[in-house]
Amino acid sequence: MFRSVLIIGGGIGGLSTAIALRQAGFAVTVLERQHDLHSSIFGVGIIQPINALRALDAIGCAQACMDAGYPATAWGAMYDVDGGFLHEMRGTPIEGSALPPLNGLTRPKLHEILTDRANEVGVELRYNSTFEQLQQDDTGVTVVYPGGTSGRFDYVVGADGVYSAVRRYVLDETLMPQYIGQSAYRLNIPREPEIDRIILQKGPTGMAGFVPIGPDLAYIFYNTDMPKKQVPAEDLPRQLREHLAPFGGLTGRVRDKYVTDDCEIVLRPEESLISPAPWHRGRIVLIGDAVHAITPHLGQGAAQAIEDGVVLGECLGKHEDYEQAFAEYTDRRYERCKLIVETSLAIGAWEMGRMPGFDNISATNHVLEVMAQPL
Ligand SMILES: Cc1cc2nc3c(=O)[nH]c(=O)nc-3n(C[C@H](O)[C@H](O)[C@H](O)COP(=O)(O)OP(=O)(O)OC[C@H]3O[C@@H](n4cnc5c(N)ncnc54)[C@H](O)[C@@H]3O)c2cc1C
Repeated sequence: MFRSVLIIGGGIGGLSTAIALRQAGFAVTVLERQHDLHSSIFGVGIIQPINALRALDAIGCAQACMDAGYPATAWGAMYDVDGGFLHEMRGTPIEGSALPPLNGLTRPKLHEILTDRANEVGVELRYNSTFEQLQQDDTGVTVVYPGGTSGRFDYVVGADGVYSAVRRYVLDETLMPQYIGQSAYRLNIPREPEIDRIILQKGPTGMAGFVPIGPDLAYIFYNTDMPKKQVPAEDLPRQLREHLAPFGGLTGRVRDKYVTDDCEIVLRPEESLISPAPWHRGRIVLIGDAVHAITPHLGQGAAQAIEDGVVLGECLGKHEDYEQAFAEYTDRRYERCKLIVETSLAIGAWEMGRMPGFDNISATNHVLEVMAQPL
């Protein structure tokens, strides 16, 4: 008989894990509290580094992402505030693979691709659904749903994001992500020809950047230090224009052309968390932002959630003994995620002027090299 898995959270990590486990022969159910696949996602873009594409390839989704996005021939380049060229960052190829160093696509498109694939392989997706309680014993986990009904599964995966409700069943319940002092503005714009990779432009108080997410679409981001706060949507364009005032080059041109009073900007605070190992207790295991919230400085948050899913699928698929499978999963994931969380934090600190002399180019190149190593 199939072993059964309940995944709580149908975001990027939950859907990727569901596909990987289904491919490994498990019966998989996903609970997603939103009412459909689009309702929980911002309409902005997502960076897919080469290691994300490798993991997506393992679950049958890489080609669809590249077809829907913008596969780039290099990772990125850095410019100064006036638009003067500083550095190239080509990225590290994966041995024996023809995958590009970077793909960008819209977040709704990624969700659509993952959802189609999950349906294709036979994952049961339940929207408008959540849990109230988990009770585990020697033979399985009883999941109590709102209203008092219940279900029984062999294993439960917590894929419910940065404010995970499953986390308290595995780790110290006081463990919480920390605001790092920076927030990022994001705005989709038509793709200018030079946005053919990640373009970074360092300003006096923050980092501006561009990511291609389709043949004709890109987004601009601006990462800067500020208190964690809600800003009325109508104030965001003016604020972003003020932040971008010192910039020349591409950022200056995009500011003048596209940061108009009626444009739709997303402002998002940046939170960080690396949970101590192990990432499992008994039959319950955590993946994605629930266990490692990664700030966007290396574009690796979603990539790591997808990798978690692929590795968990491999480990549970090959070990009958779930304790052994979960221990191997944590072993293979912990140091890799910790490196990214810590390097992203260091880049953030450098951007805020708290780590003068930090070499962000070498740090980024190092992470890209490590990410190209086998999973
Ligand atoms: C604006 C923005 C831009 C980003 N840009 C990038 C980028 O370019 N590249 C990159 O790699 N990463 C990026 N990230 C980070 C990336 O989105 C996350 O690391 C990634 O989504 C983590 O996936 P996840 O599945 O672990 O969590 P999430 O995507 O947060 O998914 C969790 C899911 O669980 C559901 N859920 C939560 N609680 C419950 C519950 N109790 N019951 C049922 N369902 C529940 C939620 O509705 C959600 O659908 C960005 C994040 C944001 C917000």
